Amino acid sequence: MENFDVIVVGGGPAGLSAAISAAKAGMKTIVIERGNYPGTKNVMGGILYTKPTNMVVPDFWKEAPIERPIIEQRIAMLSGDQCVMASHRDPAWTTEPNAHSVLRVKFDRWLSQQAEKAGVMIIPETIVEDLLYRGDQVAGVRTGRGEGDLGAKIVIIAEGVNNFLAVKAGLAKPLHPHNVAVAVKEIITLPKEKIEDRFCLEEGQGATIELYGDSTAGIMGTGFIYTNKESISIGVGTLLQPLIQQKWTPNDLLEHFKAKPYVKRLLQGGETKEYLAHLIPEGGYTNLPKLYRQGVMVVGDTAMLMNSLNREGSNLAMISGMSAGEVAAQAISAGDTSEQMLAAYERKLRDSFVLKDLHHYRHMSKFFENNPHMLKIYPEIINHAAGMYLTVDGVPKKQRQKEILRMAFKRRSIPGIMKDIYGAWRALL
Ligand SMILES: Cc1cc2nc3c(=O)[nH]c(=O)nc-3n(C[C@H](O)[C@H](O)[C@H](O)COP(=O)(O)OP(=O)(O)OC[C@H]3O[C@@H](n4cnc5c(N)ncnc54)[C@H](O)[C@@H]3O)c2cc1C
Repeated sequence: MENFDVIVVGGGPAGLSAAISAAKAGMKTIVIERGNYPGTKNVMGGILYTKPTNMVVPDFWKEAPIERPIIEQRIAMLSGDQCVMASHRDPAWTTEPNAHSVLRVKFDRWLSQQAEKAGVMIIPETIVEDLLYRGDQVAGVRTGRGEGDLGAKIVIIAEGVNNFLAVKAGLAKPLHPHNVAVAVKEIITLPKEKIEDRFCLEEGQGATIELYGDSTAGIMGTGFIYTNKESISIGVGTLLQPLIQQKWTPNDLLEHFKAKPYVKRLLQGGETKEYLAHLIPEGGYTNLPKLYRQGVMVVGDTAMLMNSLNREGSNLAMISGMSAGEVAAQAISAGDTSEQMLAAYERKLRDSFVLKDLHHYRHMSKFFENNPHMLKIYPEIINHAAGMYLTVDGVPKKQRQKEILRMAFKRRSIPGIMKDIYGAWRALL
């Protein structure tokens, strides 16, 4: 049986970041990926954040296959055909990017090439079926290939949201519909001039729009639209449980979103090139798996490291991967891969924004699950109030403001609104 220092299962951002940091620390490292090459199986909206990615590959954006630097981010509340929107734009983000749109098929492949340059061996088209043990210690992996057992001092599980190995290793529980969202996405091609005109962009600038409320028929989730070089990524993601309860299929929800007048206009004349679907871990802080035990660590989506509110997943994946790779190298160099030694991985995540943010939003999922009216009633009230306020019909403004309050309290009582504000404050602030 061939032996390695570190075996990483999965060639997504978490796994590749883990492998790069372990290899840079001198570890004999391999990544086993089930796809034809890293990226083929991977789906993201997808906005990639510059600073965390720079930590894995410095100045990556100067040569990586990125689409557009994001200079404008819009947030909208939809109700029927109405829409209220807030937006932030900073052209300085063109030259000092905060984030970029990417297509994962290209980006992950490029990142795997950076891993190879760092000395990582990538084994594609291979599925890891199980872990191997020496006593309680994880000591390698069993792959689907003939003579497919490989030994390792440490295994890093970066298999994404479908956490089969983490469950087998006794680290995670099987996914439950309450803890997972389903997202569908289309890539729609459009000439770059049309994209720039429709989103008010200069050449080489990008924009994002997150849409709440009727974009997902009021189900907890979002609709998103991101600009690529010559295409638009559009999708919807919602918690799985309410989707099942309300008998929507993900595809029907996407069609419902695309039919909204504001959205339809942005897509006009475009051609669907790709259709993708994927799960998103939404368990949050209270459903984190155990992050490590003797000889093994879990990273990225497998570790439920996802901050949906701020649309952050790839960065949590990369930072967790990088941290696990560093800890693996330290443990192996010290000749001690015990559970106690690998506890340093969790400490690193607790000291960083990764677990601090998840802890901060720990009540969020429950709050929205228990208050499904939030994304139905409030987008309605906000849109109606904006429509009333902006209507010029000779009604004095003081009277109009009273009418707006009456309209709001008719839809939701004063105690109801107070309860919602308190709940939202506890969940989000
Ligand atoms: C629709 C959608 C939109 C999103 N938008 C954003 C966004 O805009 N910004 C953002 O930061 N995040 C976003 N995310 C989240 C982000 O995509 C994930 O958090 C991130 O991809 C997690 O990376 P990962 O490496 O943990 O998992 P993955 O990217 O899922 O990688 C897992 C890899 O493991 C491989 N694998 C799995 N099992 C095995 C096995 N047994 N053997 C071998 N290989 C295996 C898979 O083929 C895959 O390559 C989005 C997610 C979705 C679904």
